[in-house]
Amino acid sequence: MRRLKPFHYYEPSTLPEAVEILAEKGGKAYPLAGGTDILVRMKRGDIKPTALVNLKRITGLDRINTESEKGIHIGALALLSTVEHSPVVRANYPVLTQAAGVLGSPSIRNLGTLGGNIGRASPAADTVPALLVLQSRTIVEGPQGKRNVKLDDIFAGPGITTLSPGELITSIFLPEPAPYSAAVYLKLGRREGMECAIVGVAALLTLSGKNGEAKEARIALSAVAPVPLRAKKAEEVLLSGSLTEERIKEAARAAADESLPMTDMRASSDYRKEMVKVLTFRAIRQALTLAQRGEVKN
Ligand SMILES: Cc1cc2nc3c(=O)[nH]c(=O)nc-3n(C[C@H](O)[C@H](O)[C@H](O)COP(=O)(O)OP(=O)(O)OC[C@H]3O[C@@H](n4cnc5c(N)ncnc54)[C@H](O)[C@@H]3O)c2cc1C
Repeated sequence: MRRLKPFHYYEPSTLPEAVEILAEKGGKAYPLAGGTDILVRMKRGDIKPTALVNLKRITGLDRINTESEKGIHIGALALLSTVEHSPVVRANYPVLTQAAGVLGSPSIRNLGTLGGNIGRASPAADTVPALLVLQSRTIVEGPQGKRNVKLDDIFAGPGITTLSPGELITSIFLPEPAPYSAAVYLKLGRREGMECAIVGVAALLTLSGKNGEAKEARIALSAVAPVPLRAKKAEEVLLSGSLTEERIKEAARAAADESLPMTDMRASSDYRKEMVKVLTFRAIRQALTLAQRGEVKN
């Protein structure tokens, strides 16, 4: 059996303390949240941290704060099961409820956190496409203070973020959804619910009115590029005229063209591209139906 390399373990009770330890220990010190991912990678020998900084004793990082009129802040340490079952998330951002609800299994969701799903920077992370189409921002704190980073700018490569040593995500901000807007997340996995996506697609549409044209369109893909990807050409297609069946098909083809999937043990590149087309078409169609009802937000 593989033996873990020795590492230092810290349990700070304040954010400044956590930042200080992470900054002092440098790039091989990792924040520890639910541990559902990092501990697995350590046991496999994929990463060899010199220090783990457990964030769970820091009060307040797991809260969902609805005080701002402009949107909600979800603490980075909020459990995926908390996000999945939150009434405020379900009422205003059901696409995130959907994405959190298909991640792993109930036991993984009872341990894993939203911040950990982002901090892992997995190309196949389930909540990320949903958060991308919602135009989420991450609130990051580090030795230089606090900054607000668009989620699109957090990912640098598979397993790599743009965060500097000492920086960690403290919360995720979701702006208030626009009227006549709706979003849907669809995931293709080999075994429903217990595996990372082979392909994941989130689509958001904002209409100009009940039967109006698209004012905004956002599509995000997972598991088909080194980082979670916005399919911007597909978005342009959707904004170029009425949302006819043919236009939605064209957008789905554009999303498949933009994807850069690889072949691995779970699926071939060609299959993934084909599935991007199928899931994008379905996600846009479903989002359109919901947006036309008007009462559903995203
Ligand atoms: C059986 C199994 C099934 C899974 N299925 C899925 C799935 O279907 N979909 C999916 O997306 N994932 C899946 N995962 C991966 C994992 O459970 C999720 O990514 C989860 O959200 C990780 O959260 P965590 O709190 O456990 O993170 P941790 O394991 O604690 O950390 C993950 C990474 O993020 C970093 N990190 C944690 N918190 C922060 C923070 N606040 N700021 C900056 N960096 C941070 C850590 O340093 C580490 O590198 C699965 C894992 C297992 C073991």
